[in-house]
Amino acid sequence: MIDLHIHSTCSADGGASIADYARRARELGVGEVGLCEHADFDPRDRSYRYLDLARYDREMAAGRAAAPQIRLRQGVEITYQANLEAEIRAWLAGKGWDYVIASVHLVDYDDGWAMVSEPSAVEAYFGRHSQRQAYLPYFEELLRAARSGLGNVLGHLDLVKRYGAAHFGRFEPTSFADEIRAVLRAAVEAGVGLEINTSGLRQAPGEPYPGLAVLRWYRELGGEILTVGSDAHRVEHLAASTDQALALALAAGFTAITTFEARVPQWITIGNLGSQGVFLQPDGS
Ligand SMILES: [Zn+2]
Ligand SMILES: [Zn+2]
Repeated sequence: MIDLHIHSTCSADGGASIADYARRARELGVGEVGLCEHADFDPRDRSYRYLDLARYDREMAAGRAAAPQIRLRQGVEITYQANLEAEIRAWLAGKGWDYVIASVHLVDYDDGWAMVSEPSAVEAYFGRHSQRQAYLPYFEELLRAARSGLGNVLGHLDLVKRYGAAHFGRFEPTSFADEIRAVLRAAVEAGVGLEINTSGLRQAPGEPYPGLAVLRWYRELGGEILTVGSDAHRVEHLAASTDQALALALAAGFTAITTFEARVPQWITIGNLGSQGVFLQPDGS
């Protein structure tokens, strides 16, 4: 098992140490765990200037000492904002991350801004607008994120459905097919991948970010880079539903999922054990 989307207390909203996750991974038999702490560049974001790089390095070392058999990757989840792209690019340059997740959390709407990852602002905004008005600016910013090439993968592709579900019901990707396919095409061209983020299964949408239809489109458009992550902010969610994510990847036509070392992708073949579920084997074995 593998989980490449984990937040520790090095993120403002994380609830467990990296060593706690490493020990939990050993208990669960999760072989590879990727930390991707929040790095945010806008003062409106609660993680603004929270990430302490020296502390992050120390806690990674403590995690490796706590469970040496677990492969721990050190990544970062940036909040992509087109207006701050140059600053984000400069900040990432020269840093030794294994991988970068580029996510859209903050959307500037015509009549105000909202954190689509938090309930309050979104509730206020979504209550006043149509689904098209609420979701379109998110996908437009995501397109700019894909084109920027700043991330190795785009985080939780259709996160906007998280709090949108309460207002607009089940998310139908066909309603935004042109916009989403433009994002996927731009990602493939820029060498940027996707993740299957299983947190959506624990939240209102009841399906990962993104779901099967979007994964199929991505595959059809030539997508090959696909990671799996729980978006855990506490140990109980480590590797949550990653078996379902692997089954979904297979259903969408992927035979392997991706991990990264020093920002270079590596693929792990997905093996299928039928009724016993899904297992992973190193590529080529
Ligand atoms: Zn995120
Ligand atoms: Zn996250």
